[in-house]
Amino acid sequence: MRSQNPFGRRVPLTGGARQEALPHALVSPRCGAKTRLGGACRSPAVRGKKRCRMHGGAQGSGAPRANRNARKHGLFTRDAIAERRQIQALLGEARKLVEEIK
Ligand SMILES: [Zn+2]
Repeated sequence: MRSQNPFGRRVPLTGGARQEALPHALVSPRCGAKTRLGGACRSPAVRGKKRCRMHGGAQGSGAPRANRNARKHGLFTRDAIAERRQIQALLGEARKLVEEIK
């Protein structure tokens, strides 16, 4: 658990606290992106992400939740499919009714 300070942001650790925190830093998840030299990036991954700040882990990078960027027209959204289904069911009922009246 990360300790909170009154300013709500991280402050650099000094002295004994730094010595104590260093092993934790060394076992923190690593980025692992392929570098131009062919190896894996060994920078620490951004908290909650799999890549470091230089390899797509930066704040605001990446697709939004449920990838709204990939949505083109909404024809296949859950709501649209449910709506079409309801209309088809209603049409079926209406056809049945018409047959009964005939
Ligand atoms: Zn990286």
